[in-house]
Parts: sequence; structure tokens; C-alpha cells
Amino acid sequence: MVLTRKRAAEAALLLSGAVLGGLVALGVGRLVQLNAGREQLEKYSVRLLSQADGIVRETRDAVNVVLNDHLPFCSDDELSYLRKWVFNASHVRDMGRVKDGHLYCTTALGRLVPPPATTPGDIVIGGRKLFASSPLLINPQARGIIIESNGVTVVLNPADYEPLNQPPMYFSALVHDPGTGRVLPFVGQPVPLSGAEIVAQTMLERNGAYYRPLCSVLSAVCVVAYESKSTMATQDRARLLILMGAGALVGALVALTLILFFNRQRSLVRNLRRAIKNGELAVRYQPVVDLDTGAIVGAEALVRWITESGEAVPPEHFVAAAENKGFVGEITRAVITCVTEEIDDLLKLEGFTTTVNITTQDLCDPAFFRFVELRVKTARIVPQSLGFELTERSTADRDVVIHAIERLQRSGHPVYIDDFGTGYSSLAYLHDLKVSAIKIDRAFTNTIGTEAVTASVVPQILDIASRLSLMVVVEGIETQTQADYFRHAHPGIRGQGWLFGRPVPAAHFKRLFSDSLSATKQALNQTSPL
Ligand code: C2E
Ligand code: MG
Ligand code: MG
Repeated sequence: MVLTRKRAAEAALLLSGAVLGGLVALGVGRLVQLNAGREQLEKYSVRLLSQADGIVRETRDAVNVVLNDHLPFCSDDELSYLRKWVFNASHVRDMGRVKDGHLYCTTALGRLVPPPATTPGDIVIGGRKLFASSPLLINPQARGIIIESNGVTVVLNPADYEPLNQPPMYFSALVHDPGTGRVLPFVGQPVPLSGAEIVAQTMLERNGAYYRPLCSVLSAVCVVAYESKSTMATQDRARLLILMGAGALVGALVALTLILFFNRQRSLVRNLRRAIKNGELAVRYQPVVDLDTGAIVGAEALVRWITESGEAVPPEHFVAAAENKGFVGEITRAVITCVTEEIDDLLKLEGFTTTVNITTQDLCDPAFFRFVELRVKTARIVPQSLGFELTERSTADRDVVIHAIERLQRSGHPVYIDDFGTGYSSLAYLHDLKVSAIKIDRAFTNTIGTEAVTASVVPQILDIASRLSLMVVVEGIETQTQADYFRHAHPGIRGQGWLFGRPVPAAHFKRLFSDSLSATKQALNQTSPL
């Protein structure tokens, strides 16, 4: 039942991941297409305006041809000359001559008797009349654009401009009268933009479409290119579908990774609890040496866990998992038990200290103090030989930590700040914490002998330690250069690292310790005057 519920939850997570991924990809795809569409609309409007400028130029040429033909008004010669010109024109369909408000002749109709009166234009700019969509004399059913200027009429056919529409992009051409501010469409549909908005020439979104107005510098003509937003966003459906599929796949993969991670984490926690209960955790001891003499003066106890499948899980990993689940205290107790059983003989020696890593969770647990007291009593060790390391990161709950450290120190246990320098509150905090020692983090040790900037922090840390009379242990010493640097930099400093020894089982460590003791004694004998 539980299993099916779990499977159902996993399936739901996978599905949600796929749906979410697909939707996000669709959203992104639409946005990308919208941007591309807007760019296209922009280019389209520029093309349109250049066409419009061409038409305006041809209309002006047409007027100038008539005014400069030096042929008798509406004569056969003039009409045939103008017909030839119209024949070769790209946009002009007809031309005519106007006098005293009457149209006397056109290239299409010849001379008109009696000449019909012309009407006031839809828009008048600078003496030019414009008829936006006027019935044509030659065919009253048809409509055209008529421009009347200096006694010359020029007829343009709006149908000629239809091919300029490039669905899904469309356009309207308008004339803007700067005097009145009126904007009159003469090709295409009226657009829902005010005259001011058109003249402002910025792309606008209106009624679910994008409008891009652009006005000519040659004439009063403006063009407005437009396209519906939804067609713009879904222009390339195939690409959107592919993107959506890919998004769904990525979403499902992310969900799958999460499921696998949580399942692994859950089984890690389950196996860890079992390993603790079955006493499968082991402790390794890494030597801590006096950098002046090179003698081993202590050790750091480091927990190890090798799973049933033979995998060595890094302590940082499973300690963090136990901390998250609130049972890291069980690891701490297992390590303390191991230490006080395995090297109890060393813990009875004066001047020898083994440190155990603890967390804030331990400090918040009153049972932890009772447990430590009991272990010290049972193993008959001196509390001074069992120290505790607390990382700066875990010193978050200030008051609890301050009191707990005081309590441990009162009982005789030294307390070290581990990984010193990697936290944020280190310096100010040190005054209140009343610890015995700091352990300089490996990251700083690595900078010695290199050009790294952080190297400059080391003297500062050593200076603070001197002022607060704190013992210093340097972590991660791997080279003689690093050892020499710290030996000269700070009197009485201690070191730990591959250079002096890796974490080893208790029996091995005891051999190392006794070798070190013999070497120290020998050295003392050699230097002794007796
Ligand atoms: P830490 O307390 O700072 O321990 C020092 C770590 O640095 C150890 O890694 C040690 O093996 C490694 N180390 C020592 N010298 C050198 C060196 O010269 N070079 C390099 N590259 N590394 C060096 P380890 O054993 O993997 O432990 C990692 C961390 O896991 C420890 O960092 C500590 O924070 C945590 N941890 C280990 N054991 C325990 C434990 O029993 N309880 C708790 N709460 N945390 C533990
Ligand atoms: Mg440590
Ligand atoms: Mg450390």
C-alpha cells in the first residue's frame, strides 16, 4: 500500500516535471518567436516605407512632367505624350488636367465635355488635395487614390498595393496632416492608433496585435505594419512542438534525478541508522604534531563508514545527512565510545589530546554532556585529553553554543574551532566563545608558497590567536614548505596533514605514537649535557 502510494507520488512528480518543463519551454519558445516576429515586423515596415517613398516620388515626377511638357492644354499632343508616360509608370494609372475647379482631360478618358467639377479633397496639405478612396470617372465602381496638385490629377490604384501585404503581416498607408494632426488612411484598413501615436513611430501593442508605425521624411505619408500577437508567437508551430517536447523531456529528467536523489538519500539514511545500530562505524586517527619538534602530541578522530556493498561514504556526506535528519548525536556517541575504548591508554597520558568532531545538535542535547561524563569516568581518562572540534558554520546558535562550550571547558575538555577562517563571524565571535584553540582551514594552508591573495589572511589569524592566547593547529599540511612557514610564523604551533600522517586505525596510530615518543626521547638524550 505504502509502496503503491510512493510509486503514484513518483509518477505524479515525473508527470508534473514533464508538464512544467513543456510549459516553460513553450513559454520561452513563444517569447523567442515574439521577439523574432517583432524584428520581422520592423524590417517589413522599413520595406513598406521605402515603397511608399517610391510612389510619392513617381507622383511628383508625374506632376512635373505635365507642368513641363510645354504642350497646349489638353491637346492631342499633350494627351498622347502623357499616355506614353503613364504607360511606362509603375504606380500611376491615370493623369489629368484641372483648371478653375474643373477636370478638362485625362489620359484614360481624353477630353471631357463639359468638364466635370472637382470636389474638395479628403485631405488638403500644402495646396495638394488628396482623395483617399474616390470613385473613378472611368469606372465609378472602382476606387482609386487621387492626388491633385498644381492643376494636375494623378490617379493611383489601391489594388496595386495589395501584394505588399505579406500575411500574417499587413499594412495600412496613411497621410498625416501636420496642420490638423489628422491621419487619413488611403491604403488598407484603419488602424486603432491615434495620430500622435503614429507620428511617435514606436511599436505598440493594441487589441492583441503589434503595430509598427513609420513616417516618411520625404512626404506626409506614414505606413503602419501590423501582425496579430498570437500568430506571431506561434508562427513556427513545428519548432514550438519540438521545443515543448524537449522541455517536457528535460522536466521529466529533472524530476527523475530528484526522485533518484531522494530515494538514494532515504536509503542512505536508512542504511546509516542500521550501520550505527550494528556498530559498523569505524574511527581513524590522524596525527597532530608539534611543528617545533615534529613529535606527535595528539590526534583527530575521524569517522569512517564502509557500506555493505563496500562503498566508502565520505564523512561530510553522511554526517550532513544525519544532521539533517536530527540523529548526528548517535554518530558522535559512537565515535566517542570508539575513541575512549580504542585509545584509552593514550588518553591517560598528560599532554596528549584527541579531538572528536561535534555539531551544534550535540551541544543542544543535555544527554550529550552526561554521556561524555560517563565515558570519561568509565574509561578513567583525563578530560583534558578528550577535546572537541566545532566548525564555525555550526556556531550559529550563539547563546547555546557559548554556554555549551563553557560547560565543556569547565569539565576540563578543550574545545577547538574547526575550519577556522571559512565562516563569516570568526573574528568578533572568538572573543565570546572562550575556546582553547583554532584549527586553520586547509584552504589557507594551500595558499602558502603560492601567489593566492588569501595567503595574506594567515598572518592576521595568527596575530589574533596570539592576542587571545589560543593554541593554533594548522590543517592540511602536505609540504615541508607549509610546515616551515607555520613553524617560523607562530611559536608552539601544531600541524596536521598528509606530511605527518593520514588517518589510520587505532593500532597503527599507537605504533606511530610510540615511534614518535622514542624519537623524541632519543633527541633529548642527544642534546642532554649529562
Ligand atoms: P575536518 O574535521 O576538518 O577533518 C579534516 C579533514 O581533512 C579529514 O577529512 C582529513 O582526512 C582531511 N585531511 C587531513 N589532512 C589533510 C591533508 O593534508 N590534505 C587533504 N587534502 N586532506 C586532509 P575526512 O576524514 O574526509 O573528514 C571530512 C570532514 O567530515 C571533517 O573535516 C569533519 O568536518 C567531518 N567529520 C569527520 N568525522 C566526523 C565525526 O566523527 N563527526 C562529525 N560531526 N564530523 C566528522
Ligand atoms: Mg575536524
Ligand atoms: Mg577541519
